[in-house]
Amino acid sequence: MPTCRACRHTNGQIVLDLGEQPACDYFPRGDDPGPDPVYPLQMWLCGRCALAQLAADPTVPREPRATEPAALVAQAADAVGRAAAAGLLPVGARVAEYGSPHGGSWLPLLRDRGLVPVANGESADVVVDCFGLMHAADQHGALAGRLARLGAGGVLLVQYHSLATIIEHGQWNALRHGHYAYYSTESLLAMLAAQAFRALTAWRFDLYGGTVLLAAARDAEVSAAASTTPDRDGIVADLLAEDARVGAADPDALRGLADRARATAAGLADWLAAERDAGRRVIGYGAASRAVALLCMAGVDRRSLPAIADASPAKHGLRMPGTGIPVVSPAQMSASPPDSVLLFVSDLRSEVKAAFPEIEAAGGRWLDADSFTRVRG
Ligand SMILES: [Zn+2]
Repeated sequence: MPTCRACRHTNGQIVLDLGEQPACDYFPRGDDPGPDPVYPLQMWLCGRCALAQLAADPTVPREPRATEPAALVAQAADAVGRAAAAGLLPVGARVAEYGSPHGGSWLPLLRDRGLVPVANGESADVVVDCFGLMHAADQHGALAGRLARLGAGGVLLVQYHSLATIIEHGQWNALRHGHYAYYSTESLLAMLAAQAFRALTAWRFDLYGGTVLLAAARDAEVSAAASTTPDRDGIVADLLAEDARVGAADPDALRGLADRARATAAGLADWLAAERDAGRRVIGYGAASRAVALLCMAGVDRRSLPAIADASPAKHGLRMPGTGIPVVSPAQMSASPPDSVLLFVSDLRSEVKAAFPEIEAAGGRWLDADSFTRVRG
């Protein structure tokens, strides 16, 4: 029986079960015949604190090989700018960062603003966590470790892909091995409250369809500071209302993600089969971890999708986990433009359309892999 990674309760339920899936960061060499090991991939919803989380994860994280989308880089600058405008990033403040293993450090931006990064374990005025916390198996412990670094008056800035977004946009493939928590604003505030912290304010961004940066401080300090009105702009209240509207704590709302997963996978399989029958070539773009479960569920192999191009040289010569589809360089894709490019990372859309104009110049088109659906009569 799972135990909540945040509040330690055992009362909860499996709300999304994607079956047995390969580890999404395990990219075997192209000549590795497999079969690749598979593991259960399930989301469990805590009945007490409402944290959606991985039920279990027997996989071992590998060295990430992703390149950062320009959208992520631009969002970081936007986020730092907004936090600074709110007075939360004063010149000279000591800053500690808990980054994502997928990259995307904010430290260069913070240094440029005059903040001073501190060494591991040292006390800080600002602790920044940009998609880092979700990678911790022990959620309570990981948050406690971050908060313990904060000196008097310190502020935690934590950025997360919101569960409300995942539900609203049917982003079922956000569920991944190695990503232990899927925060609603409600569940994150509960985690913070358990450690006597509360939200100061928050900002929303379009990244991944809906990303939140939340600023939190010690309860006692927020209450004592007459100059600080928590959630002055009402954003946190809006986020909580959004959670309630989409049912971020409702097992049934989360169960809807499974229907979406099946429909997307079936729609993709149908379309690829039709393209192959019609003699049209399709190449994938973005050998991302989020593509792995979709391709496996759709039963796609290299006959219907002969290759996936990716900008990261470290991935060239490898193949997708579970499906045997080789990862190639974008140059190989451009050398012989396909009829369609299936984009597995929709945040890359404008970037790749601009970077590879030869695709559309040759009459090809870019399609989002997540946009397919099979409508049953
Ligand atoms: Zn819990």
